[in-house]
Amino acid sequence: MENEAIVEQLELLVKLWDLHGINEFKSKNLAFATRGLDKYPLSICQATEEQLLAIPGVGKVVISIIKEVAQTGTCIDLEGILEQTPSGLLNLLKIKGLGPKKVSTIWKELGISDIDELLLACQNNQLVQLKGFSSAIQENVYHYILFLKQNASKLRLDKAHSVAKELITILSAKYEKVQIVGDLARNCEEIASIDCMVLASNTFGAAFALSEIEVLKEDYQNSSPFVWRGNLVNHLIPIQIYFVDSENWAIQSLKLSSHPNHLALIGFDELKLKASFESEHAIYQYLQVPYIIPNMREGLTELKWAITHQETDLIQLEDLKGCVHNHSTYSDGKNSLFEMAEACRQMGLSYFGIADHSQYAAYAGGLKPERISDQHLEIDQLNKNWTNFRILKGIEADILPDGSLDYDASILSSFDYVVASVHAGLQMDEEKAMARLLKAIENPFTTILGHPTGRLLLARQGYPLQMSKIIDACAANRVVIELNASPYRLDLDWRFIDLAQEKGVMISINPDAHEIAGLMDMKYGVEIARKGGLLKNNTFNALNVDEFLQFKNGFK
Ligand SMILES: [Zn+2]
Ligand SMILES: [Zn+2]
Repeated sequence: MENEAIVEQLELLVKLWDLHGINEFKSKNLAFATRGLDKYPLSICQATEEQLLAIPGVGKVVISIIKEVAQTGTCIDLEGILEQTPSGLLNLLKIKGLGPKKVSTIWKELGISDIDELLLACQNNQLVQLKGFSSAIQENVYHYILFLKQNASKLRLDKAHSVAKELITILSAKYEKVQIVGDLARNCEEIASIDCMVLASNTFGAAFALSEIEVLKEDYQNSSPFVWRGNLVNHLIPIQIYFVDSENWAIQSLKLSSHPNHLALIGFDELKLKASFESEHAIYQYLQVPYIIPNMREGLTELKWAITHQETDLIQLEDLKGCVHNHSTYSDGKNSLFEMAEACRQMGLSYFGIADHSQYAAYAGGLKPERISDQHLEIDQLNKNWTNFRILKGIEADILPDGSLDYDASILSSFDYVVASVHAGLQMDEEKAMARLLKAIENPFTTILGHPTGRLLLARQGYPLQMSKIIDACAANRVVIELNASPYRLDLDWRFIDLAQEKGVMISINPDAHEIAGLMDMKYGVEIARKGGLLKNNTFNALNVDEFLQFKNGFK
């Protein structure tokens, strides 16, 4: 069992104890131990008892719970308390801003145990009447529920890719050719349905083959002889499977992978395309427009882009030379500085930038000045071991509520580069958010503006910004904008990449990795960057290490 799944079950147990107001001491202790387990870099399942006992808060009781969860996926305590909890309450526990205690009040005082009832209670102004609830809390809960309902069946890009992989494996056993189309072919940051085409000369036979696959649940009302609609068991996301013969393969591939606006932009008219085309390239040629890669088929500025640039100008994963927004055990990362750097070296990169949290982010073990000196000493030592590879001394400095950065100039000047990010006080109106970010961009020590809007895809909207003004300020102050490659963020929004490039602002594709596995998120960053038309020449971490360092020193 993966660490993440174990930690999730333990967190649920803590929440349920708190919700029912029982085992207060045990709950506090398990919550503390869970935070340590969440950061544990090795497999919890394979750890010895001695190793587990070394984690703060982990004692014999916690170990017995972990063992039970690791072996069975659950434990007696959890099963017992789940039995006493209406299942709808579990959804209420997921609402941002509502801890177990508040959910308990809602449940006990208003008798509400499901999300629709809670939405209604917000509309009827019932929440504000409870002790400890304000109108701001009620407002937040209301908007959050609407947001959740809207996104209930959507998936983040990484999750969608893994469901698609499952689907392709199933379909490949029945069909000779399977191809992903739709949102996922365009690598959209949020996926509303997983669409694919399968090669079928006889659609009725092809549809019948699907009915034999048990894990596929058909939505009979919405299916047709040409398209199967339904979902995979255990996954809410809608699935569409198109049956296509070889003659129409290229036409359907282009049509089904494009946003309708793209088809309009290139003058695609299915009825006029009688000829059987060999490839998508041949169709673009026939329509006398440049070929557009699937990622960019959105019907925005892609044609304009393609007239002035070549597909080969686009950034690719292998163009990246460094990886510069990463965390280690110095702050809230799971792997050591050495392990993270070595993993990057093994990936063929030539520099690794550490950017642990700054002191303001105390919840994430942000670095006090003494720890920075320790880290810099360690980096100097490690750098002696390598030729053609080095660790850069970076920091992810918090942008404080007033827009200043979280260290004084003497400390800020000790770094090779500074990623400036907002982590706290995210509830801001546009005026506040703009003032805060503009001040940080104007700070002479800021090299990169980290995850500019603070959004978490499908979970939290970012604070409001006038992105064109942010881009102008970055251009004026020679600040790079991050494209945070974590599939939870993908922030800067790809829709602004073109504008940033036009204004001469460089983009840095940063995984914000908190463990070695997180480094691979760079691939999502690159897909999204390509979607926005990011050029290799405009990618900050495609520079070699000297150019990277000179960018700041040379111009600030
Ligand atoms: Zn951050
Ligand atoms: Zn970070």
